[in-house]
Amino acid sequence: MELTIWGVRGSIPAPGPATVRYGGNTSCVSLRTPQGGLIVLDCGTGARNLGMSLMDGPFGRGRGEAGILLSHAHWDHIQGFPFFIPLYVPGNGFTIFGGGKSSSMLEGILEGQMAPQYFPVQTLKNMGATIEIVAVAEGTPFAVQGCRVTARTNPHGRSGALAFRIESGGKAVVYASDAGYPASGPPASSIDLYRGADLLIHDSTYTPEDRGRYPERGFSSIEDAVLCAVRAQVKKLVLFHYDQDYSDADVDALAARGRRLLDAQGAPDIDLVAGAEGLSLTV
Ligand SMILES: [Zn+2]
Repeated sequence: MELTIWGVRGSIPAPGPATVRYGGNTSCVSLRTPQGGLIVLDCGTGARNLGMSLMDGPFGRGRGEAGILLSHAHWDHIQGFPFFIPLYVPGNGFTIFGGGKSSSMLEGILEGQMAPQYFPVQTLKNMGATIEIVAVAEGTPFAVQGCRVTARTNPHGRSGALAFRIESGGKAVVYASDAGYPASGPPASSIDLYRGADLLIHDSTYTPEDRGRYPERGFSSIEDAVLCAVRAQVKKLVLFHYDQDYSDADVDALAARGRRLLDAQGAPDIDLVAGAEGLSLTV
């Protein structure tokens, strides 16, 4: 599987001279499956660049197909959706998987941000592509683009955020953005989902100090991310979803701190990568 990061920022886009290296777009990751299929993880503003990059291929000719996994519907995870150009090309097909009590509830949330008060162009129903929306059942594996996907809810705000484990050809990638664990630590269900992953993309919004300052925001610190990586014995930890006010230098420091924490916890074999816009990784 080949993974590409299109947005690493949490909460709100943060473009500017202080964020050029890691990028200012909000959460979006793409995953190419070994069979050439496409899975999109979250549709923050990074989805705009992903969409444009796809237009040279089948998606530009109305022959593209992809699965979109939405962790939750906070703005920084859906705001790029109306700007994802392949959705406007008739003939393309998308299946959107997300949380919610029902598929129609999830559809209502996505439709809501495209209501005429917020968005001038179109509604979800007449974007052009065929869009199917599926509310996923937690813990029950489902198929997306030939991969086996399992979802679990992490604590985050009032409604939580789904984390996804994507498996194909004996490899596993886990996407766990927006996780605010209780003081007792990550629940067993989260660690089970992450267990042994070849690559874990984990919420690393804060330093431990800032995490302590803003516990109500429901995000992880670098310490939380490292703890999960060690407990679940993953091979590679990818830091993700940085605070909008963190500069490139702040993220460098966060990554260096993560490396030191891994070494201190007796896990020098776990690779640590600071997620950055434009970064591609092969699993
Ligand atoms: Zn977020």
